[in-house]
Amino acid sequence: MFTNRQLFLQHLGQTSVAPMMLEIVRAEGIYMYGPDGKQYIDLISGVSVSNTGHCHPKVVEAVKKQVGLYMHLMVYGEFIQSPQVKYAERLAEILPPALNSCYFVNSGSEAVEGALKLAKRFTGKSRIISFKNSYHGSTHGALSIQGSELYRNAFRPLLPDVFQISFNDEKSLDAIDNHTACVIVEPVQGEAGIIFPENDFLIKIRNKCDSTGALLIFDEIQTGFGRLGYMFAIDRFGVVPDILLLAKALGGGMPLGAFISSADIMSALATNPSLGHITTFGGHPVCCAAGLASLNVIIDEKLAGRCNSKSDLFRKELIHPLISEVRGEGLLLAVQLIDSSYIPYIIANAPGFGLVLDYFLFCDNAFRIAPPLIIGEEEIVMACNLLKKLLNDAGNNIKKK
Ligand code: PLP
Repeated sequence: MFTNRQLFLQHLGQTSVAPMMLEIVRAEGIYMYGPDGKQYIDLISGVSVSNTGHCHPKVVEAVKKQVGLYMHLMVYGEFIQSPQVKYAERLAEILPPALNSCYFVNSGSEAVEGALKLAKRFTGKSRIISFKNSYHGSTHGALSIQGSELYRNAFRPLLPDVFQISFNDEKSLDAIDNHTACVIVEPVQGEAGIIFPENDFLIKIRNKCDSTGALLIFDEIQTGFGRLGYMFAIDRFGVVPDILLLAKALGGGMPLGAFISSADIMSALATNPSLGHITTFGGHPVCCAAGLASLNVIIDEKLAGRCNSKSDLFRKELIHPLISEVRGEGLLLAVQLIDSSYIPYIIANAPGFGLVLDYFLFCDNAFRIAPPLIIGEEEIVMACNLLKKLLNDAGNNIKKK
């Protein structure tokens, strides 16, 4: 008889030689539970997915109701499926008027693919500008625009006519010109280690796009749905893109992505030729029902605005000799340490202290804190106390080596 641990290594394709290997049998709110009943505080929300916590009763109820009515009926875009229609209407209500046409897909990467294709079709141009240290997903198109040469180079040849420029560097915006189809940017760079735009950088990109005819794409796949203390980064920075990308928390714990634009721009995918993007499961009705229920919880419980005091509490509690900086806003935080050598130990040993933590892809001296937005104040204090014990342990063990 093999254990699940052995079967996991034998039969599942591995993403690295050092997976976290944490086995979870149940999750509720901010907690996950192992087979032995051990409780873990989720401080990363499955990377900004579980904004309303695990198995929120209203989300579970919406899923059960929809499963009882119908699951997959037809490829995206043909049938009128009320979970899709209702969710798209609700999103249009809370987004700026220019973002009123929602194309549902399955994931963040697929939203990126759809948006790049839409920008090429709408502008008739091919050049794509993205940013160094950006992360937009792992499919070929998304990989082509990713801001890491290490990961891109492993799969060349990739999409042509793609250029990476530097975030927060006004001079680099000169690369945006009349040949540019689109500029794709994370309003706050996530995997780079929570890097905020400075000196109105997003406004400067918007202006440059306006003067050249390039479309501006905001990748809010990590920042959306209240994480920054605002429903979207659009609201935080007052800049409206031509295309908005959502995924992760969009599905309330179910797989769902979307690229959202004006009906005018979006129409470019429907003609000459039609079927500009085809997706079988995009906007799956069960995922849309879950996502709408989760969004309504975020709105009804004012979870976005309530992030700010929680953020302050994390900062107040996270004072430790190993911590050099706590960066970010809302519940999208990077805890930077005095030395990157502590990070692997801390991530690997977090479960032993009852915590789930994670790395950033492109920032080796920090770890992320992005818990479900429903986390309470007492839970924050408890999590920070555990974290400080873990940091003490890391300090003792790394020093000894
Ligand atoms: N864009 C951003 C900013 C992300 O953080 C991610 C995933 O981490 C993606 C795109 C890709 O999303 P997915 O993993 O659903 O394809």
